[in-house]
Amino acid sequence: MKEITLHIGIDDTDSIAKGCTTYIAALLVEKLEKLGAHFIDYPNLVRLNPNVPWKTRGNGALCLRMRYNENAEFKIKETVISTVEEQSDLENRGTDPGIVFLKKSRPPKEIQVFARKATREVVSIHDAMKLVERYGAEALAFKDGRGIIGAVAAIGETLRSDHTYEVIAYRRLENRGTKRRVDQDSIFEMDKATRPCTFNNVDIEKKRVIITPRGPDPILFGIRGEKAETVRRAFEMVRISEPVERWVVFRTNQGTDAHLKNVKRISEIEPYSSVVVSGIVSANPWMIRGRHVIFRISDETSEVDCAAYEPTGSLRTVVKKLIKGDHVRVHGGIRPASNENPLTINLEKLKILEVAPQFVYHNPLCAKCGRRLKSMGTNKGFRCDKCGSRYVSLTKIKVNLKRDVRKGLYVTASRSQRHLTKPLIRYGMEKRYGHVDSMIERWHFP
Ligand SMILES: [Zn+2]
Repeated sequence: MKEITLHIGIDDTDSIAKGCTTYIAALLVEKLEKLGAHFIDYPNLVRLNPNVPWKTRGNGALCLRMRYNENAEFKIKETVISTVEEQSDLENRGTDPGIVFLKKSRPPKEIQVFARKATREVVSIHDAMKLVERYGAEALAFKDGRGIIGAVAAIGETLRSDHTYEVIAYRRLENRGTKRRVDQDSIFEMDKATRPCTFNNVDIEKKRVIITPRGPDPILFGIRGEKAETVRRAFEMVRISEPVERWVVFRTNQGTDAHLKNVKRISEIEPYSSVVVSGIVSANPWMIRGRHVIFRISDETSEVDCAAYEPTGSLRTVVKKLIKGDHVRVHGGIRPASNENPLTINLEKLKILEVAPQFVYHNPLCAKCGRRLKSMGTNKGFRCDKCGSRYVSLTKIKVNLKRDVRKGLYVTASRSQRHLTKPLIRYGMEKRYGHVDSMIERWHFP
């Protein structure tokens, strides 16, 4: 019998109200193993461009990679299709699931390039379909089929460069919508015991747990970290007083900055992408409604506004201290220009490269009595109010002010980080290209 390698991409099955693509993947792990599929990687959770305008949630696509004997093929595909159909929120406008099957030992280079593009820019369904045809993949589109884009991209993102892991635990149906019964103290303890090998468990500024979502979705909580073994161990440290229906370890591009693209000139910035770009602060920060802070940077080609929103926390506090002349590098997603606003970078990170000097000018002191002199008008010299002395040739004294801001990298508060944002704690932990651990034995339940 012939062994076949199959990659299954799934995307856009969920809505705000219902469903969750990772849950479908978790269900399929159990179902497909029972059909004899042998997984050759953890399910891949691939976060795509977070600035795509029609995406309201995390923009996460899934890929399952497996081997099986050829006579299981029909049953495997049928199971995938029926599970996606059952679990998707098909009534919701804007939920347009897509499934792609690709039978190849590894995804072709061109699909990998497409995946990279889908993480950073806006890609078209037309381009996704061209790849499906060229490489003999099978695509299934529900409704308008936009999900095909993410399904192809998930297959192409093989996570060979920097990657992380997330263990996600799911609730039983009867408990969904009720308060999550997870001991908060045990999460702080787990965080302390596993840091820096796990990240974004708690928001330090607000002393709040951020791994448990709110709302009716099936996720109980998810723990992110550097290794599969670590996130599974971390999961076992959390005290839970409701039954866990299932849990799965995913391999992901979360926390890797995979969405950011270096842009040389401000004039090259495109709407809906995510960029890293340098410039000189050309307008001092100002506050807008909602306590958001805006400043402007420019280079020899153009200028662009940068916004630090209120929830960015300490990042916003640093931004407020910038002044004209500071040399900075900004990281963030691009919001297009509108009637009210110019093109704007929504700040995720700020690197202060050079701090500009800040001066004030004081009138000199009287040489005879020491009193601060009064100006007699521009270039007309100074006069002393106390003793009446006049000094026609004196000029103002330049005084260097101490800046309350330092060179360095500043990252938005963990509660407002995107799935893809690399948190400060991961700097220096990045995996080398091609360095992928072999799979651990217990990576899912049941
Ligand atoms: Zn005087």
